[in-house]
Amino acid sequence: MSQSLKTVKGMRDLLPEVARKFRHIETVATDLSQLYGFEEIQTPILEPTALFLRTLGDTSDIVTKEMYRFTDHGGDDLVLRPEGTAGVARAFINEGLAQHLPLKLFYHGPMFRRERPQRGRYRQFFQFGVEILGVEKPQADIEVIACGYRILKSLGVLGTVTLHLNTIGDSASRNAFKEKLVAYLSDKKDQLSKESVERLEKNPLRILDSKDAGDKAVLTGAPKLKDSLTEEAQLFFNNVVEGLGILEIPYVIDERLVRGLDYYGHTVFEFTTTALGAQSAILAGGRYDGLISDLGGPKTSGVGWAFGVDRIVELLPELPVAKKPIAIIPMGPEAETMALKLAEDLRSNGLSIELGFSGNLAKRMKRADKLGASHAVILGSDEIAKQVAMVKFLKLGTQEEVPIRDLVARLSHSSTKEPS
Ligand code: AMP
Repeated sequence: MSQSLKTVKGMRDLLPEVARKFRHIETVATDLSQLYGFEEIQTPILEPTALFLRTLGDTSDIVTKEMYRFTDHGGDDLVLRPEGTAGVARAFINEGLAQHLPLKLFYHGPMFRRERPQRGRYRQFFQFGVEILGVEKPQADIEVIACGYRILKSLGVLGTVTLHLNTIGDSASRNAFKEKLVAYLSDKKDQLSKESVERLEKNPLRILDSKDAGDKAVLTGAPKLKDSLTEEAQLFFNNVVEGLGILEIPYVIDERLVRGLDYYGHTVFEFTTTALGAQSAILAGGRYDGLISDLGGPKTSGVGWAFGVDRIVELLPELPVAKKPIAIIPMGPEAETMALKLAEDLRSNGLSIELGFSGNLAKRMKRADKLGASHAVILGSDEIAKQVAMVKFLKLGTQEEVPIRDLVARLSHSSTKEPS
């Protein structure tokens, strides 16, 4: 195939077997989010570039290296969204949703980042996320974490997963801490990576989650954020921890977990797995009380998370087989016409029907087998003459002539109960 007709690097076709898993994850996450009172919001995949420049900051990897950014034919500067929260915040402001606070929203869909592709990391990937807007109390943090935990548990993927939890305090805590951190690191610039030296001026908090071995060594002796927490911030975090305890949600405190942007505060958390190598983060979130006001909206608290569907697919146990179909095999034109109607009648009774039109009987039976069909219904000219159909119970290897007028009732009954 010519180069240009392949999928774009880092993007993939989701073939039925994988797409079925995606659908399952989204269904479980949607159903459970709704139990927690979240409602769906859908925002466009294309957004104005300015939205992400303002929400992600101009030093983040996403903004500096990873955005699919282009100018359209009308001259508008646009981006394929790299994440979902900014779009939700924009919609909140544009649509005047402040009058409906508090709001609990969930979203899902494709996101785009031009990262280096590898297992669990794609340039088009899918996220499912929830946001609670307008609740300042730690109960909202507990609720979103509980919802995420419950989804991962229902999907059966918790085996290799740990919840990492931290607080980055309120802005007073962070300002006090930044001062101490910068004072400590300024003396050791020569031991820091080039990136961290740059961050020392622009965004010192982000140095804490550096992966560089030299940086890590310097950080072992660094002041700790928890020692700079104000009383309010400490109390807020204690409440979150207590709530998780009451709900028996296990976690580890991870002091290195931070978010480098000013609008984040208080709780940050991440569910990580040991099963996916370097791409260990599967669900990440936190509190962002300053985001909406930074975008020009009314001061509104927010807390939420997003998980990567592509990564959870990798952890998912085998799914139970989808509902087994009934294969209808008409032989000849008259039977084909009859089968069309019969198939519709059975489908309107909630049965899954496969109509096999081509090939000889043996070939069609083989296909029915391959599809995992529970029954095959053979309609040939002999059967039509007698106004019956030959129903084969594929699991038992038995067969039975059923009058055509009884077929719907007979099959509806026997496909909910195993044939005896
Ligand atoms: P983030 O928006 O970076 O906090 O990411 C939230 C979640 O999305 C992560 O925990 C991952 O599960 C997933 N994710 C982020 N980037 C990618 C990617 N390039 N490919 C697949 N999943 C991703």
